[in-house]
Amino acid sequence: MRLCRYDNDRLGVVIGNNVHDVTAAQDEIRRAAPYDMMGDAVIAALPAWRSRIEDMAKAAPGKPLAEVKLLPPVARPSKVMAAPTNYRAHVEEMAARQGRPADQHRGIGAAGIFLKANSSIVGPSDTIPLRFSDRLNEHELEVVVIIGKKGTNISRENALDYIAGYTMGLDMTVRGKEDRSFRKSVDGYSPVGPWMVTADEIADPDKLPIELTVNGVTKQKSNTDNLIYDIRKLIEFASSFYTLHPGDYFYTGTPEGVSPVKPGDWVSAACPAIGELRIQCSEQA
Ligand code: MN
Repeated sequence: MRLCRYDNDRLGVVIGNNVHDVTAAQDEIRRAAPYDMMGDAVIAALPAWRSRIEDMAKAAPGKPLAEVKLLPPVARPSKVMAAPTNYRAHVEEMAARQGRPADQHRGIGAAGIFLKANSSIVGPSDTIPLRFSDRLNEHELEVVVIIGKKGTNISRENALDYIAGYTMGLDMTVRGKEDRSFRKSVDGYSPVGPWMVTADEIADPDKLPIELTVNGVTKQKSNTDNLIYDIRKLIEFASSFYTLHPGDYFYTGTPEGVSPVKPGDWVSAACPAIGELRIQCSEQA
């Protein structure tokens, strides 16, 4: 199932090129959810609501995707996790830029993962308002996991049980000397979308071809089978430090080919099994 948020905080199921309105389910789920819960009520309720949502979608008229404004697929994530340097060829390209050997890089296991501010999340219908035009602003193509249920100290063997679904993400970055989390948390620097594909549709998350284009020109092309920490290991690793909550986003790392963008550029991040996140860069508002 492809679940999207759209227009004015509506919930939809995408079937073919149409969005079917299931906002009534979202309303009921949210009414029953405690205000102080951690994570997103709709994602948490999905296992119980899945078949009802599918029935509602079949009964609802479809609206063409081209006529809706797509929002980030999760309304209230408790956090946005992100894996640094998780593809060998990206580690090598960054080391080459800095003129140092790639094998001296400390690696994700020693570096840990990092967090991006929730306030940096935008959806496909937004833009990426670029700041610091005198500095490098770069795209990072990433598969993003959406956590489905609360868990901590999750083992690799059980990790996939904690995934609600997948979406595409751009880990936008201002290059510079400040802390990584600071440079990657600028407003709009965490685009996600176009929707969440539920985990049952992805047979193996460590075998997903991914591609990024800027204005139609391919810049990044890889496969999640090149991940240094695969998706199970990322969940095991992150949950050894954090409790994961339903709706948490997890950026899984970027392959080689990161490159600068400027206002006006159209960036597309795509995976055949997930979909295409297409978003435009703009001047800072
Ligand atoms: Mn990244």
